Amino acid sequence: MAAARCKKCNNIIIRKATACRYCGERIEKISFPSAGRVLLFVLMPIAVFLLISRIEWVRQTNDEIRKIDNQVVQYVLHQYEMVKEQGDPYKICHQASIVRATYFEVNDVTNYRKWKKIEKSDCKRSQLH
Ligand SMILES: [Zn+2]
Repeated sequence: MAAARCKKCNNIIIRKATACRYCGERIEKISFPSAGRVLLFVLMPIAVFLLISRIEWVRQTNDEIRKIDNQVVQYVLHQYEMVKEQGDPYKICHQASIVRATYFEVNDVTNYRKWKKIEKSDCKRSQLH
């Protein structure tokens, strides 16, 4: 049987008792939180915290990926401009296909389609040479 201590005389008494059998002090019923409540009040904040952390982590990671994607796109576009200045039609065709492939990699459908056309005309020009 579960035991408790009397608040007044500090003797060990049966938890169920309504009064202390040593000093007669009335024992107030102590309600213990149920397992469900413990879960709710302890685990819920943890779960919420983990969920928020995860959302924040995913958001930051997506931002980082977008930044890197953008840098890669800027880089290949710059390379294309350089190659275009040099005027070698084979290199222009090749670089256009790299730009097209890069837009495909970063899921930029609009620019992918646009560069597919540029690649096609650049490569057609290189074949005419
Ligand atoms: Zn007592």
